[in-house]
Amino acid sequence: MRPILVTGALGQIGAELVPALQERYGVERVVASDLRPCAPAIGLYERLDCTEPQMIADVIRRYDIGRVYHLAALLSAVAEARPQDAWNVNMGGLRNLLEAARRFGCQLFFPSSIAAFGPSTPRRRTPQVTIQRPITIYGVSKLAGELLCDYYFNRFGVDVRGLRLPGLVSAGAAPGGGTTDYAVEMFHAAVRGERYACFLSANTRLDMMYMPDAISAIIELMEADAAPLRYRNAYNVTAMSITPVELVVEIRKHAPQFVVDFRVDPLRQSIADSWPQSLDANAAREDWRFAPSFDLAAMTADMFARLSAKIA
Ligand code: NAD
Repeated sequence: MRPILVTGALGQIGAELVPALQERYGVERVVASDLRPCAPAIGLYERLDCTEPQMIADVIRRYDIGRVYHLAALLSAVAEARPQDAWNVNMGGLRNLLEAARRFGCQLFFPSSIAAFGPSTPRRRTPQVTIQRPITIYGVSKLAGELLCDYYFNRFGVDVRGLRLPGLVSAGAAPGGGTTDYAVEMFHAAVRGERYACFLSANTRLDMMYMPDAISAIIELMEADAAPLRYRNAYNVTAMSITPVELVVEIRKHAPQFVVDFRVDPLRQSIADSWPQSLDANAAREDWRFAPSFDLAAMTADMFARLSAKIA
């Protein structure tokens, strides 16, 4: 197998995907990259701006890259504050990586999002194929990205695969400015014994997944047999559909004194209100046997164990 490139590797997903790939394929076969010049402690690292096609081509040639996990993007709340930058990074970056994948014969992973749906999408058991009219620039860039992936697969045969990821909870790198960041922030506050001000309303229901399940899903999809894959834009995946108040109830089993105030941020609330409440992930289960292991209780117990060990 040719070496692997990860873009946006210093973010919330990359911080856990890179070590997982290093463990699976060997440290010398994984090239992490991001905007910042600083390298992680272990492994190969390149400063790489995904809006620069020449930089991408240079790195792919130098390492003879055969598979790319393209994580670089501006997340939902950041994107809404900087819509022009979001379009340039999210769409321009993906177009550059798809083009590089076509030229150099690489397999490509693209993380779409529940943001690629919109207020006119059915919000419960949101189907794999349904109405997609997102109203945020982040969602527009993810939907356009899904269509571009389909195009490169159908037109040029690029082996591109994607997931519509829900909000991700992790104990590692901090989230990068998304609408579901409240979940991670709540865990950190609870473990430190602090009060937390939640920026979404108590009953805002959204899909979530624990990072170890997301990492497994990304790796499994990229290794899956190509023949049964019916969708090349992105597969719905989810592990739980929860509200802030349901998370508080679960967290209190570990931190009974935990107190949350609800101070709604209108921007992030309006983004959340335009997203599905629970995805139907049957296509992923059928085509490549997607099977997450963590439900809300298991995730909460594991987050407490990991964060408590960190601050001990
Ligand atoms: P993040 O914000 O934590 O990390 C993104 C990384 O991309 C950052 O390290 C940033 O420096 C880098 N980056 C930004 N602009 C860049 C550029 N021009 N060139 C190269 N790197 C650049 O994001 P994340 O949570 O790790 O998400 C990774 C991907 O997964 C994104 O495409 C995101 O849209 C998608 N996603 C994430 C979630 C989630 O909950 N974390 C959910 C759905 C989809």
